[in-house]
Amino acid sequence: MQPAELLSLSKEFGNPLYVYDADKIEVQYNRLTNAFAKVEKLRINYAMKALSNISILKLLRNLGSGLDTVSIQEVQLGLHAGFTPDKIIFTPNGVSFEEIEEVAKLGVQINIDNLSVLEHFGAKYPKTPVCIRINPHVMAGGNENISVGHIDSKFGISIYQIPHVLRIVENTKMNINGIHMHTGSDILDIEVFLYASEILFDTAKQFKDLEFLDFGSGFKVPYKKGDIETNIEELGKKLTKRFLAFEKEYGRELTLAFEPGKFLVSEAGYFLAKVNVIKQTTSTVFAGIDSGFNHLIRPMFYGSQHNIENISNPKGKERFYTVVGYICETDTFANNRRIPEIHEGDTLCFRNAGAYCFSMASNYNSRFKPAEVLWKDGKGHLIRERETFENLLQNQIMIEL
Ligand SMILES: *Cc1c(COP(=O)(O)O)cnc(C)c1O
Repeated sequence: MQPAELLSLSKEFGNPLYVYDADKIEVQYNRLTNAFAKVEKLRINYAMKALSNISILKLLRNLGSGLDTVSIQEVQLGLHAGFTPDKIIFTPNGVSFEEIEEVAKLGVQINIDNLSVLEHFGAKYPKTPVCIRINPHVMAGGNENISVGHIDSKFGISIYQIPHVLRIVENTKMNINGIHMHTGSDILDIEVFLYASEILFDTAKQFKDLEFLDFGSGFKVPYKKGDIETNIEELGKKLTKRFLAFEKEYGRELTLAFEPGKFLVSEAGYFLAKVNVIKQTTSTVFAGIDSGFNHLIRPMFYGSQHNIENISNPKGKERFYTVVGYICETDTFANNRRIPEIHEGDTLCFRNAGAYCFSMASNYNSRFKPAEVLWKDGKGHLIRERETFENLLQNQIMIEL
């Protein structure tokens, strides 16, 4: 999107504001499906925890996507957005058995990542097909918080425990219809991904009634020019070849599934915030914005480096700024960044604000959550209203004291 378009949306809908570009989501969806065009049965399940606005879900459903969910509330939102249960997969970690049961009863594909749960579920519902999430013990992550395939990870059933899985299957006569892995966000290296895939194929051979193999996600997207990103096209070529060979070996056609979050929505998102104050100290020039980590936590939480543009003065002379929020504790978005000269009242635009941004927003400091706008067909559509004071009071009870 162009700075002028973003600026006009910020004038129309106010700041702070999240804007999502529908075309970019479609481009990314098509990139992935084109990369795997030779696979007969391809299934993309959008990992909705990245961005769960129901209009975004509907947009992805219209593109043909399924959904990857991690809570029953996500399942319910997905159903509300028009997904049928057969288009949803439930991949929880550490949730209650009752929640898994409830989701299974809705007709949603269950993905189990724990031996005790598998045993319990298989004994109680031997006829309900279940996918198992394996942990291939491959490190494919950048940030340690988002690497979920390593040996100490809480995710997945260790591949060393597959004999135990097979025994549970034999004892309960349950039906395993899929094998899944998700080695964590930020795949830097296709070879690492392919290596983990070999472990998944090896595991899959030991199950006779599979319908799908789910390779998870973790595709890396660029945050700025020159960043490494997952070469989806090359991964498509290499994994397709290997997958087709595996199908022959397995003796049956299988569905190849992915569940990207970030890849589909990260770059489509823009976060707009107004500069309240410029503060010159002895060593630094701070630009203090009308927002904080309550609205965009990733820089403080993961150390992520969102590109920041001054859309009020895009051609201005670049100067160094430390961009901070209004939260009353350390709340830094960027240190010593070159940004076109900022004046109080200017609007800054944070890039890559589609994934894990609004969905992680909170009311900390009793602030309202921002509005969300979908940019489609050259027009901004409001898809979530800015919160009001009523929202802050909602559910609170003032007792007699
Ligand atoms: C979060 C998550 C994803 C999505 O990861 P991205 O890095 O956003 O693509 C996929 N699968 C599972 C099981 C997840 O928990």
